[in-house]
Amino acid sequence: MLSNASLYNEIEEKIEQRQILSPEDIVFLYDTADINWLGGLAGKMADNVSSNYVSFVSNLILNYTNVCNVRCKFCAFYRTGSEEDSYTFTEDRVIEEIAKYYEPYGIRQLLIQGGVNPSLNLDYYTSLFRRIRNEFPNLGIHGLSTSEISFISKKARLSVEDLLIELRKSGLETIPGAGGEILDYEVRKKLGRPVNSGEEWLSIMETAHRLGIRTSATMMFGHVETGLDKAKHLLSILKLQQKYHGFLSFTPWNFEPGNTQLEKEGVVTERTGGLDVIRNIAVARVVFNSQLPVIQTSWLTNGVEMGQIAILYGANDWGGTIYDEKVIPATGKQVGNLRKDTIIESIKAIGRIPVERDNLYRTIKIYE
Ligand code: SF4
Repeated sequence: MLSNASLYNEIEEKIEQRQILSPEDIVFLYDTADINWLGGLAGKMADNVSSNYVSFVSNLILNYTNVCNVRCKFCAFYRTGSEEDSYTFTEDRVIEEIAKYYEPYGIRQLLIQGGVNPSLNLDYYTSLFRRIRNEFPNLGIHGLSTSEISFISKKARLSVEDLLIELRKSGLETIPGAGGEILDYEVRKKLGRPVNSGEEWLSIMETAHRLGIRTSATMMFGHVETGLDKAKHLLSILKLQQKYHGFLSFTPWNFEPGNTQLEKEGVVTERTGGLDVIRNIAVARVVFNSQLPVIQTSWLTNGVEMGQIAILYGANDWGGTIYDEKVIPATGKQVGNLRKDTIIESIKAIGRIPVERDNLYRTIKIYE
């Protein structure tokens, strides 16, 4: 008890002096620290970063194909291409889908990602992005996981750097953090991720940041990982952030085992609980503090009420609206749609001020 008491003090002092926490400190936060102490600390730190303001974005998630040749064991979304419910949107279909929501809901961010579909060439993406930029000028394209980027670059025989330059020219604005999961090699083997895909995630993010393309960072928890795996994951992200300040936000996601290979093999059969969700939000805030100032709630998998609690435990960005998302429902979990009004009400209900932002986190409107 005494040694824990001194650890609490030591961690608070390190934060006060803006020191980076050690892996051991972070493991303590994940595995042992009192959740109320942790939440209080993280909540205060978030208030120092963004005061009473909580941002959100009018977002559309578009999963343009579910055909994928990677076949991760934690993914319920992918199809091999021969199933009846395999699909790939044509350019016209993507445009039609965006048009349904763009004007009526004032959409500012398009999160566009899908499987690693071997039949799609670079032209598919560049032509599509150009058309999106022309037809929907207020939309920021937040697109493609590192898995998709890696495959497209190999198929087009371009370096990742040259590919990113091409994609940016055609309209790509930012890159989501998908593909990060947990960066540790052994964990990724158990998740059925390709070897070296953790290093590749970091390297693609670094290339993007060096080119001035901003990205998001994520972490998927609640499967086979340990506190130390998560600590190392956060510290790798922090190290890169200190180099280029290219990450715009961090989102910790909890794994949804429904309909996945990991569930079928009996490796993970239950989703993690709410306490673990808010602990992961709070630890991210305590580790990143103002160096990676935006921590997003993962309300999508946990519901609006958990989104509100996450704000009180260190998050300061709600994430986005949602219309007809397809990845989470593939696990058997229904998320429904979430419109702007509900987000504004949910943020106001916990005494915070909602701020609508765009894809680059620039303020559009404050809802006092
Ligand atoms: S997580 Fe992405 S790369 Fe992995 S199987 Fe699913 S769609 Fe493919």
